[in-house]
Amino acid sequence: MKYDNANIFAKILRGEAPCIKVHEDDCTLAFMDIMPQVEGHTLVIPKEPASSLFDLSDSASLACMRAVKIVAKAVELAMGVKGSTVFQHNGKEAGQTVPHFHFHIFPGSIFNASGIKGHAVEMADPAELELVAEKIRAFIGEAAIQVHQVTKP
Ligand code: AMP
Repeated sequence: MKYDNANIFAKILRGEAPCIKVHEDDCTLAFMDIMPQVEGHTLVIPKEPASSLFDLSDSASLACMRAVKIVAKAVELAMGVKGSTVFQHNGKEAGQTVPHFHFHIFPGSIFNASGIKGHAVEMADPAELELVAEKIRAFIGEAAIQVHQVTKP
């Protein structure tokens, strides 16, 4: 799929649009979903300009999975749940609304989350998202240790 440089995540990566960041490395950025379906709904995107899974390079795939492991574990720890759900859409026919590859991370189960909201429907209060992001950021270090991306000093 031809990459659209004007999509909102490309703007976030260029610093032309804001995001509530929870984690960043050389190849990926993780931030709060602005229309969360559940509290703690977080996104991980590659810095590489890939529209869908089928456009993503092998090196960016690996970088995304490394970041997803850390961020998903941090979301679990921050939200006080034992499990998490990771998913992504490929193409508008599958429900993809932003044409830059990304993983969604939900705390807990997508199937029995109480009060789950529609997909990309309701904007959250940025101040409330920032409070959730603060909690997630506080667990990134511990999460990296738990998923064996770093070892204890
Ligand atoms: P998808 O429909 O799988 O492409 O998911 C796109 C996600 O991006 C949706 O869950 C939206 O709520 C979210 N989203 C759209 N614009 C922004 C933004 N500016 N910052 C953070 N999340 C966004």
